[in-house]
Amino acid sequence: TGPVVIVGAGHAGFQLAVSLRQAKFAGQILLINDEKHLPYQRPPLSKAYLKGDGAPDSLMFRPQKFFEDQNIELVYDSAKAIDRKAKKLKLVSGKELDYWHLVIATGARNRLLDVPNASLDDVLYLRTMDESEQVRQRMPERKRVVVIGAGFIGLEFAATARSKGLEVDVLELAPRVMARAVTPEISSYFHDRHTAAGIRIHYGVRATEIEATDGKVSGVALSDGRHLPADLIVVGVGVLPNVELAAEADLPVAAGIIVNEQLLTSDPDISAIGDCSLFASHRFGELMRLESVQNATDQARCVAARLTGDAKTYDGYPWFWSDQGDDKLQIAGLTTGFDQVVVRGDVAQRSFSTFCYKNGKLIGIESVNRAGDHVFGRKILPLGGSVTPEQAADLSFDLKKAMA
Ligand code: FAD
Repeated sequence: TGPVVIVGAGHAGFQLAVSLRQAKFAGQILLINDEKHLPYQRPPLSKAYLKGDGAPDSLMFRPQKFFEDQNIELVYDSAKAIDRKAKKLKLVSGKELDYWHLVIATGARNRLLDVPNASLDDVLYLRTMDESEQVRQRMPERKRVVVIGAGFIGLEFAATARSKGLEVDVLELAPRVMARAVTPEISSYFHDRHTAAGIRIHYGVRATEIEATDGKVSGVALSDGRHLPADLIVVGVGVLPNVELAAEADLPVAAGIIVNEQLLTSDPDISAIGDCSLFASHRFGELMRLESVQNATDQARCVAARLTGDAKTYDGYPWFWSDQGDDKLQIAGLTTGFDQVVVRGDVAQRSFSTFCYKNGKLIGIESVNRAGDHVFGRKILPLGGSVTPEQAADLSFDLKKAMA
């Protein structure tokens, strides 16, 4: 077998290269990396890395030597076009690479704020290591930050900025935080925690303009007519999947690169994995695009297995986490589409989980500082197991019994 060429050296691309070697793939592996760093982890960029003073090396999956030892060729370049007939990948440098199989793992990019002055120097994002580094370096010199978007990344950053003494305002168009991803119970808990820490969260408003004085950020104009002073803006308004490479090669795309239950595009020589893939979920019976480390790495493992002779339907089970201030939120399964939510534990004690049901069946668990419940969810949900809402609400009911 000839070369496997992987476009994108993020969580999905890196894991694929590693899993191929673990599965004894002996052919050439080329990992196209358009960032100037060794492949690194993204979750700490809005968490521990922002908080501390860890060196950039602390983010790297593995040192340079690992890639040499594993014979994984890192190509510092950017993929420009796919010639499907000739099975060649064209790079921005002009180089062309032959592939036996091509894997698109291009991830997603920041959705940019589209208001006047949004390109000022102090309007920052958190997707790449360079962006996180910029935010980290500027925080100590700044006093007032406006965070645009109360999603996971915006709130993780907001909590850190507040803990470092900055004044923090968060703008959110929806009526609650993390509205698209979590239950109202979890939104309400995190609203209370962030508010108690002194963060002001403004709902139902958008930024209409970044205000500037002498070319420097001085505030934000809001859709309700108010103005908030600021010397730093951090934007977390979601991402756009990087589908262009696939689209220009006439591969079907929608809200992601469309792949089948084995993560293959319509071209049997091209797969797409991670944040950029819109996959036919065998488990949930719908097209899904997920943005998580679990999804990126499990999809990579599935493709590595297929390329080494063990083709299977992708069957990864979703899970996620977010660290906000002193709280750890962990999510297993689906926390949208439920019709009943049961709380287990004690919200006031900051140790509780929400069990989400659909038609009486458990579909997801959100846990706040209750790792045991999360572990339970990760074990039982993929197997289709359940506990009744009454059992979930009853702390004297031992979840371990249901796992046995
Ligand atoms: P990425 O990691 O984005 O990697 C894609 C790579 O491809 C990038 O390096 C990109 O530059 C490159 N690329 C794009 N186009 C080209 C091209 N044409 N040629 C070459 N290279 C190209 N998930 C969790 O589960 N838990 C968390 O707590 C969590 N926290 C997060 C915090 C932050 C700040 C961010 C940004 C993400 C977080 N995520 C978290 C999401 C998780 O990091 C992503 O789901 C994961 O990185 C997706 O992996 P990926 O390989 O698909 O994409």
